Amino acid sequence: MKKNLVVKIIILILILLVGYSVVSKTENKKIKILIVAGHEPNAGGADEFKKIKERDLNLQLSNILKDKLLANPNIEIITARDNNGWNPDLKNYVETSSTTIMQWASDMKNKMMGKVDAGEIELIDPNMKHNPATSSAVLFLFGTNKWIEKNNIDLVLHIHFNSNPKINGKPVFSGYCMYIPEQQYSNSSSSRIFANYLNTEISKIEKPSNMKQEKDLIIEDQELIATGVYNTLKIPVVVVEYAYIYEPMMLSSSTRNIFIEKAASSTATAINNYIVDVIKK
Ligand SMILES: [Zn+2]
Repeated sequence: MKKNLVVKIIILILILLVGYSVVSKTENKKIKILIVAGHEPNAGGADEFKKIKERDLNLQLSNILKDKLLANPNIEIITARDNNGWNPDLKNYVETSSTTIMQWASDMKNKMMGKVDAGEIELIDPNMKHNPATSSAVLFLFGTNKWIEKNNIDLVLHIHFNSNPKINGKPVFSGYCMYIPEQQYSNSSSSRIFANYLNTEISKIEKPSNMKQEKDLIIEDQELIATGVYNTLKIPVVVVEYAYIYEPMMLSSSTRNIFIEKAASSTATAINNYIVDVIKK
């Protein structure tokens, strides 16, 4: 009788221990977030206005955002580049696997075009024509998508500032907008949920874009590599254009730094809220 009781208690303790370790393992799993400061360390973002380079502003915001998010113990932050240039692991992967990456992109494109031919997917004309990326930018963007898959990253944010088009060479637009995968892609609705959280916070610090093609604010796009053209991304991804680079607050460094600080804070709040509500629920 007593022996039985002891055995039962031991079994109960074992069950509790196993249960606890399973629960604590899932609770301890950090959300891996990749922050991509748009464009390459030394090139791209043709967007240059009065010597302010878009790619530098993207990096400034990425650095501040990373610091703010480090306070959240549930998150692991990975950046595509920092003040020293590309993330060394990403750079090494892209440079040593360029043939594999471009072959993969081409296979994914063929698969999608097969579905288009079969009438399963409809090609959508983009609202907004984007500047064509250079071949090195294309390689790094596809390489980043493949690297995201390889590294089991959960969420991606691309940081940009808008500039084109100017009318008659003069800057006329203002405000923020975002790009998400077009609705036929598998990660479109999850990306829209993430974008809604960003929209709630960014709308507190910047006006909506006043450019007609950006009036939806959260804009679906089928062709951007960053949002996973040809289904090259499966996880939520948002490209944010935080403001137009030539807006008045962007012209002097003091007001620009204040804006970038606010943009990083609002983004960190949005990401923290999104994780509590959507991922950790
Ligand atoms: Zn850009």
